[in-house]
Amino acid sequence: MEDHINVAIRVRPLNQRELRSTAAAQTSLPWLVQRDTITQRTHADGRAATGNSFTFDRVFDQAESTRSVYDNVVKSIIGSSMGGFNGTIFAYGQTSSGKTHTMHGSSSEPGIIKQAVEEMFDIVARDTSREYLVRVSFLEIYNEVLRDLLEPTRTNLKIHETAKREIFVGDLSEHIVFNPAQVEEILLKGDRNRHIAGTNMNERSSRSHTIFRMVIESREKIADGAGEDGEPGSKRQQQQQRLSTSSLASTDEFTGAVMVSCLNLVDLAGSERVGHTGAEGQRLKEGAHINKSLLALGSVIARLSEDGGDRGHIPYRDSKLTRILQPSLGGNARTLIICTITPSADYIDEALSTLKFASRAKTICNTPEVNEELRGDALLRRLKRASELEKEVAQMREIERKKIKIEADNEALLRQLWKSQKERERLQHELALQQRKVFLPVAAGADGVGGTRRQTWFPGLQAPLADGAPGDAEPMDTDGAANDGGGPDEPGAMAGLYRTAMGQVAELKAQNEALQKQHSQTDRRGRDTQIALERLVREHDLLLATLSQLAEAEAVPPSPARGPADTASPRELALIRRKIRALMRTIEASQKQCQKFRAQRPEAEFLELELQAARETLAQR
Ligand code: ADP
Ligand code: MG
Repeated sequence: MEDHINVAIRVRPLNQRELRSTAAAQTSLPWLVQRDTITQRTHADGRAATGNSFTFDRVFDQAESTRSVYDNVVKSIIGSSMGGFNGTIFAYGQTSSGKTHTMHGSSSEPGIIKQAVEEMFDIVARDTSREYLVRVSFLEIYNEVLRDLLEPTRTNLKIHETAKREIFVGDLSEHIVFNPAQVEEILLKGDRNRHIAGTNMNERSSRSHTIFRMVIESREKIADGAGEDGEPGSKRQQQQQRLSTSSLASTDEFTGAVMVSCLNLVDLAGSERVGHTGAEGQRLKEGAHINKSLLALGSVIARLSEDGGDRGHIPYRDSKLTRILQPSLGGNARTLIICTITPSADYIDEALSTLKFASRAKTICNTPEVNEELRGDALLRRLKRASELEKEVAQMREIERKKIKIEADNEALLRQLWKSQKERERLQHELALQQRKVFLPVAAGADGVGGTRRQTWFPGLQAPLADGAPGDAEPMDTDGAANDGGGPDEPGAMAGLYRTAMGQVAELKAQNEALQKQHSQTDRRGRDTQIALERLVREHDLLLATLSQLAEAEAVPPSPARGPADTASPRELALIRRKIRALMRTIEASQKQCQKFRAQRPEAEFLELELQAARETLAQR
């Protein structure tokens, strides 16, 4: 099916400056717009023009909105793009003639891209028989350099051609979109990146081209089991049934035919310099230098229009723009060119140049056809599997998310537990300190033990406080029964236990003190007894010696000079009596001493008996 390129003209309203200038010159506009015709009324030098009339698919005057442009010339191309035809819409015209306003819109009214996107997603939502996948890319051509506006680091992109002579831009990012809001966001992002790149935005935007590309894939829904008309055995379904059981298709996740189409929405650079020809060749040269792509576009259009149906060599490769748009210009696409003009008398030549370009373009014929793929790279072919995988991935992510949360919760609990343990230890430590302050002085005071002895008496209390290890004293057993839940958790209970233990300790201390006292007393007594005994032994020896002396004296025969014994001299008797009295005193003293120790020492009794015997002996004397 052959199809002419659609060409529409849009005349924008005069701006404030142009309005003032027109009013000052008291001139009427140089263009007369009718439904599909635009006629030149005056030349640039003010002379009346006759016979310069151009007819297009549609001419929109200043009063018509972008919505009107969309409804009249854009909508059908969007519809066919959704139906598998490639489509290209581009705005061509001098700088400030309204290209960007028409394509991208402004704050005052939405552009055709926004309206097209909304319509596309409307179609997706309405179409119950097909499922769709839409992906977008956004690139800029500036000074013959291709740049990805959605991934600004990707610059100087290259154009490639597949074996099937399909043209694509390598490394250009594509983004799958599911609703108009996502597309809007992507367009804004691209626009921001374009702004950042330009040192002079106005300069750049008037000399660079942008191509917003949407790739639409669709296929019939097999699961429904019936066609749109409700008849289960429609031709298409039969075809799909056949395909799905064919050996070729059996390895595919999805076996139906997939329609893949591209819609290019192009906002071109300003054409004013290129538009000047002939005598103004110098400007043409400048234009060529400034924008090779735009010049090449003019050449391609001119060539295609000259050749008519006979396709000779077309210089698509002369520029990046024409190379990318090759399938849309004289190829497999439905193409619309919206030529925008400024109706001011100041720009008659520029508008004329645009109209001539548009006239040439409208003669070009394309041969658009539905792009159906039975096998190939269509993303949608893998969509079913992809969506299954997506579900799996989503489930795995959910599981992973839960796992991470549980781990985080566990960690938080462990931290809390650790903190609680630390707090518990701290409290126990504090409690122990308090108990030491309160109870130890009481215990020390009760039994009179000095502070220095506490270290000796309570080693079990001191040690655990110093190193935190379990101590001997029950209240200090921080790691033992108390931690197992079986010990005295309550400070009051611990204090009670502690008091009991302290009472027992004090009692033992008192007993020990008493024993020690007793022991030292016994010691002292023992020493005294020892001394006394030694003295008694000495006296006893002396007494025995005296007695034996006396015995010897009795056995000595009286000397002839002294006479018989009872006749001893008075001096001798007096001496003996003194000795006996001295002995008697000694014996009495010893006797007293013996009485004193009698109860304690059997030796004393023995001595006493001996003394008694000695006294009796003496008494007998
Ligand atoms: P271009 O992209 O062709 O250089 P713009 O689209 O940026 O020009 O338009 C230049 C100015 O004219 C902008 O301020 C735009 O809002 C305004 N303008 C263009 N076309 C129209 C229109 N049809 N209606 C109202 N304002 C317009
Ligand atoms: Mg612009």
